Amino acid sequence: MALDLNDYIASYKDFPEKGIMFRDISPLLEDGQAYKQATDEIVNYARERKVDMVVGPEARGFIVGCPVAYDLGIGFAPARKKGKLPGKTVKASYGLEYGESSLYLHEGAVKPGQRVLVTDDLLATGGTISATIELVEDLGGIVVGTAFLIELADLHGRDKIKGYDMLSLMKY
Ligand code: 5GP
Repeated sequence: MALDLNDYIASYKDFPEKGIMFRDISPLLEDGQAYKQATDEIVNYARERKVDMVVGPEARGFIVGCPVAYDLGIGFAPARKKGKLPGKTVKASYGLEYGESSLYLHEGAVKPGQRVLVTDDLLATGGTISATIELVEDLGGIVVGTAFLIELADLHGRDKIKGYDMLSLMKY
């Protein structure tokens, strides 16, 4: 029988700072059946969308995207923070609550015309996923879907990625 994945999300008030309700996916990851169920749902979505590459941002985008890529027998490319990737990269910047951050992807990580699924654990304002999409498109990839374990509906991240197909397994 299918699990209710909401039972595997922990909520922490005032983390990492006051006024934030942090949704922690650790219990889901620590439970083999819950992690597999969540992964299988995203694998099915990726299969429907005929994905041939997965890209996820550091660090929890790896946790969601890698098992999907493994299951489908396709590649995974990590979008990493500054100073982490050697060699030639493309860069995308995005706004944070205070200041700015950047993500990088290896040149050639995605081939022109490849059908890409972008994954992360959680969609909040949509800044992280928009930067990841920008990197994929910079390399000529086609973002055919985005997948998240959790969507924070009040922050309207969905509006930032209008025009892209989206799967979220849980909503808060
Ligand atoms: P956004 O860029 O959409 O505002 O924020 C999403 C990014 O911040 C994701 O990469 C996600 O890992 C992280 N994030 C923001 N809030 C939370 C939260 O409550 N729980 C978790 N697990 N990640 C969060």
